[in-house]
Amino acid sequence: MRGSILVISGPSGSGKSTLMHEMIKRVENTYFSISTTTREKRDGEVDGKDYFFISKDEFKKGIEEGSFLEWARVHDNYYGTSLKPILKELNTKKMVVFDIDVQGHKIAKEKFGNIITSVFLTTPSQTVLKNRLIQRGTDTTESIQKRLNNAISEMTRIKEYDYILINDYFEKTLEDLISIAHASKNRVASLNTEEFISSWANV
Ligand code: ADP
Ligand code: 5GP
Repeated sequence: MRGSILVISGPSGSGKSTLMHEMIKRVENTYFSISTTTREKRDGEVDGKDYFFISKDEFKKGIEEGSFLEWARVHDNYYGTSLKPILKELNTKKMVVFDIDVQGHKIAKEKFGNIITSVFLTTPSQTVLKNRLIQRGTDTTESIQKRLNNAISEMTRIKEYDYILINDYFEKTLEDLISIAHASKNRVASLNTEEFISSWANV
């Protein structure tokens, strides 16, 4: 196997990070791609675990140096996926999980299309999304409004994804995400078929 990529996108507050962290505990050989961002750290977030938090100047230097597999401007901040650690993990045949926005998904698909499985996660309604953002208690009213506005334009791109998950009941969504993750690991594109057939024929 060559490794695979599982992309999860969806409006901020739809539950991506909570679900992904639970999924990763339950699916073997998985690596969470830690993105780099210029946004402010939220209470409870840890630098190097949730994100690498850097300044806009440092981020722009990273862009110039070609350090990012993809990067995008989201809600007035920069977010990007570093290339080097991803290639290392794919070489060790891991499933790499990306929590990236719709713009990042498009670029990742252009570069790694055949090994990517993608999931669009959302809530049953915009009102539920708003309530979850309020309950999370990490964003200002202005930032919540920005996230709700952006959610609408992100939702128009659902058709670019392989799967849609509506995160109503957490345990049910988690179970579905785990099933998709297992399927993602078994993509034919992740298999070195010649090597497999040759060893299969020689046993
Ligand atoms: P994202 O990473 O997409 O921005 P989070 O994982 O931070 O979203 O989730 C937003 C909030 O919604 C968190 O407070 C989380 O605990 C909560 N949450 C996630 N899934 C559910 C669910 N199915 N039902 C109720 N609350 C949820
Ligand atoms: P948040 O600020 O809520 O953590 O994330 C805001 C948005 O940025 C989410 O849609 C999330 O998926 C996206 N995002 C996080 N990391 C990356 C990344 O590395 N690249 C891209 N393109 N988007 C990202």
